[in-house]
Amino acid sequence: MSLRDYLASRDFRFNKQFGQNFISDGNLLAAIVADAGVSAEDTVLEIGAGAGTLTAALAEKARKVVAYEIDKNLVPILKETLSGLDNVEVIFQDFMKATTEELRERFAGARVVANLPYYVTTPILLRLLEEGIGDHITVMVQKEVADRLCAEPGGKDYGAITVKMNLLGNTTMTRVVGRQMFYPAPNVDSAVVRFDRQENKFADPNPALTSRVVRTAFAMRRKTLTNNLMQGLGVSRAVAESAIAKTGYPLTVRGEILSAKDYVALSAALVEAGYQLK
Ligand code: SAM
Repeated sequence: MSLRDYLASRDFRFNKQFGQNFISDGNLLAAIVADAGVSAEDTVLEIGAGAGTLTAALAEKARKVVAYEIDKNLVPILKETLSGLDNVEVIFQDFMKATTEELRERFAGARVVANLPYYVTTPILLRLLEEGIGDHITVMVQKEVADRLCAEPGGKDYGAITVKMNLLGNTTMTRVVGRQMFYPAPNVDSAVVRFDRQENKFADPNPALTSRVVRTAFAMRRKTLTNNLMQGLGVSRAVAESAIAKTGYPLTVRGEILSAKDYVALSAALVEAGYQLK
């Protein structure tokens, strides 16, 4: 029976508000699990179990799978689709409401694998990145979001989140997935992105400041980096310009030209010029 027929037979009603676009193609599910590099030693955190198709594919390869699911209407479905799998735990809770402590305790070194609900993709990713949850994060996101996460400096897709990911590790797009692979089909295509965390990648002595500088640099995209730094950090033109000069870029440069490594150098130059994070 197809997933569509199965869900209809159980009177399941999709809740649009929760970004429910399910996948059931066995080849695609196996490919995502392979992209994520899941092996028998791994604890996997999944966000959004849906009908449990990806959960079951993960459970075949992993030591343990813990899945969060916000929609309690999926309780009877998941009970049925995951029956007989003794290495799966489903937590019926909004992932965004889980505390940092409980996530860190359970999933610090885990692999995260998810077909993310599109309405909350960025907040979930930022949580995982900033709170140190998961060493390897493999997520299905809308193609345009994937383009942003994997962008090179200088392009229109390159933004604060791209730099953030590059500061903390390495990001690659592993596959593009057409909208017809989902049920119900969304209006846009998707892609799988894998992020591998790399502790202290640039040996940044001022990570909190670098993070602030990145946010500031992209605050107003049409402004130069100098103007964004002056406005966002409250530094003088002289301090902003002397720090930018040290990175080797012209004083008229815009934030989207600098790489993650350049931002580490820029924050060090700001400290040298006397700036202190308040
Ligand atoms: N993993 C399934 C699959 O690949 O078919 C479902 C993916 S679907 C795109 C996203 C799932 O996340 C939905 O089942 C939705 O109910 C759930 N969800 C949405 N918001 C959530 C949240 N804040 N916390 C946990 N689950 C959530």
